Amino acid sequence: MTENSASERLAALVAAMETARHDAPLAAESTTLLAVSKTQPPEQIEPLLAAGHRAFGENRVQEAQAKWPDLRARYPDLRLHLIGPLQTNKLRDALPLFDVIETLDRPKLAAAVAAARRQGNVGITRRFLIQINTGEEPQKAGVVPSDADDFIRYCRDTLELPVTGLMCIPPAVEDPAPHFALLREIALRHGLKELSMGMSGDFAAAIRFGSTEIRIGTALFGARGTT
Ligand SMILES: *Cc1c(COP(=O)(O)O)cnc(C)c1O
Repeated sequence: MTENSASERLAALVAAMETARHDAPLAAESTTLLAVSKTQPPEQIEPLLAAGHRAFGENRVQEAQAKWPDLRARYPDLRLHLIGPLQTNKLRDALPLFDVIETLDRPKLAAAVAAARRQGNVGITRRFLIQINTGEEPQKAGVVPSDADDFIRYCRDTLELPVTGLMCIPPAVEDPAPHFALLREIALRHGLKELSMGMSGDFAAAIRFGSTEIRIGTALFGARGTT
């Protein structure tokens, strides 16, 4: 990794995002960069906040709980997304912490979210994305594509959850393009506007397939330690 600061890398990424939109007829009107700050201490996050960046992603509830209340107190307009799997027993901690939960991935969790909201426990979570396991990988969270239509209808129509889009993590060793295309197709069928897809290694392809949010860790903060 270079000596560049995170805010310099952010500027370079924004430029690369612009380049990716060129001659890309499927590109969304705009794409947000979610800074994935998992494993990063607050000292690494602060410079981005100071530079005006406001959208962040974390993949563990407990880690976010330790880091983000202090940062939010100083930057009340920041937005925090949960992008890792959510255990039902962590739901009560997650709802006051995350503005967006991107990982609705099974009926039991969705029903627990709906029950909490009915009891007035909405927290700050305004909207949800459904995670689709486009590669049908057994070790990965998300609903498989063949169950996606039913699960999306269950969340939106039966439970009346504010679901606004879909999220996926393509298999590490495959061409991600067909996975992005599939996610886009499922979202279109249901009139869902948000596509959370694309990471450090494949965000340009994701943007070309209509990503509205790329989730960037390594390209912004450098390589993570082992976790
Ligand atoms: C860690 C993580 C990212 C960021 O990955 P990089 O390759 O470091 O950009 C994106 N999405 C999810 C769900 C992650 O867990």
